[in-house]
Amino acid sequence: MIVVGKIVVCNNDADTNTGDQNNVPEKVRNLFSSLKDDLLRFGIIREYIYYEEYNNLVLICEILDSWNPTIPNIDTRIDRLLADIKTTNFTISVSNISNTPLYETSPDWREEGSLILFPVRDIIPFPRVYPPLMGRKTRLYVPLPELQLPYNLLDDLQNFVNCCNTIHRLYINYHGFLEKKARYELSDPLSDLTRRGLDIADLIKEEVGLPVYYYLSYLPDNIPNDYCPLCKKNLFDNYDRGFYFCDICKFAIDYIR
Ligand SMILES: [Zn+2]
Repeated sequence: MIVVGKIVVCNNDADTNTGDQNNVPEKVRNLFSSLKDDLLRFGIIREYIYYEEYNNLVLICEILDSWNPTIPNIDTRIDRLLADIKTTNFTISVSNISNTPLYETSPDWREEGSLILFPVRDIIPFPRVYPPLMGRKTRLYVPLPELQLPYNLLDDLQNFVNCCNTIHRLYINYHGFLEKKARYELSDPLSDLTRRGLDIADLIKEEVGLPVYYYLSYLPDNIPNDYCPLCKKNLFDNYDRGFYFCDICKFAIDYIR
């Protein structure tokens, strides 16, 4: 059982409707960031996502069993942060969201018409928690066990998703050669990574009997987003709620890049 915790530093004064992200003072941001680094360094959290939401700082993290986020005075590091933060108008809350559904699931994947395979999650570093397949009709996640895929295909799919997310982190965190190489793998329709993804999508299609589109995480340079990057077909007629679909190459491409 994965324990997922949510730590929120909330600005009590802010108007949450403005969406203004400049209301978090640098001091609070730095305190929270150093708490996150401590938690990682001491092995208290593993995977994490850290973002600013309106005027709040949010850390969602996978927590080791030894640490129970439902107990308020859980850790001296959080106590220290609380003491430091008292001088501001911010409060900090810690909650266990393990039992909160992180996503909505498709009521019946057989009714979806087709599926979309998302290898990379820009803001979701929990590939083990979020299923990589989404139904085209409802745009809701498809729980993998419901597909009853053969074990080796499930294994290949999970390995592929982990690999894609590792490469995506290379692209985000590095500069120079590694960044360029990672970008190529994520965006080129003929890269090893893309071809592997298309193969896996095809194998899933054989099992479930529905077309499976592969979401290309980035587009190659100089390709407009309404053209297929492989067959170069104009996809204007195959637009569906935020995505262009190429029925020949089985790519799904974002409307907005
Ligand atoms: Zn195409």
